Amino acid sequence: MKLLEERIRKDGLVKPGNVLKVDNFLNHQMDVELFDQMGEEFKRLFADRPINKILTIEASGIGIACITARHFHVPVVFAKKTQSINLDGESYVTKVESFTHKRTYDVIVSKKYLGPEDHVLIIDDFLANGCAVDGLIDLIQSAGATVEGVGIAIEKGFQSGGEMIRNKGVRVESLAIVEQMNPETGEIVFR
Ligand code: 5GP
Repeated sequence: MKLLEERIRKDGLVKPGNVLKVDNFLNHQMDVELFDQMGEEFKRLFADRPINKILTIEASGIGIACITARHFHVPVVFAKKTQSINLDGESYVTKVESFTHKRTYDVIVSKKYLGPEDHVLIIDDFLANGCAVDGLIDLIQSAGATVEGVGIAIEKGFQSGGEMIRNKGVRVESLAIVEQMNPETGEIVFR
């Protein structure tokens, strides 16, 4: 998606440790007009899929997921990160290692909001090593629901997540794929 690539070039900051900071339009301040165009593009890409629910993970996926849901006319469920779960049997649970915070969370979705009748599109802001998306796939499978695909704003193509998820036979559509980025020069190369 040209518009997103241009915005990343203009406002993205390449940080050490393979982190791309896009706080100006995606992770802190949010450009809702841009999100709306991203949502439209996800709808175009997944138009052939019988999606009745969008699943994301808190916190930074929620904004994009909500605006995208306007184009699909479906509800959004976000998986919650918790530090101490009480296993009451009311939720599906999985573990996700956070790329940016370098720690592992239990991530839960209530059994009320995900079930065998659901055809789910996963939406997230970034795909890096794929832990977040893999955890969401695990929750969907625990619920007996169907993974219809994964829509990502920015995939870092030099990290392993994209390949790992696609190798599971899951369709992944990323609106921008960063092939290389250099923290010294700030240069960003797209696939
Ligand atoms: P993964 O689980 O694929 O390793 O990482 C995905 C999650 O980590 C995303 O939900 C996102 O919040 C965060 N993340 C990974 N890489 C980056 C990055 O380069 N920049 C930002 N802002 N977030 C990232």
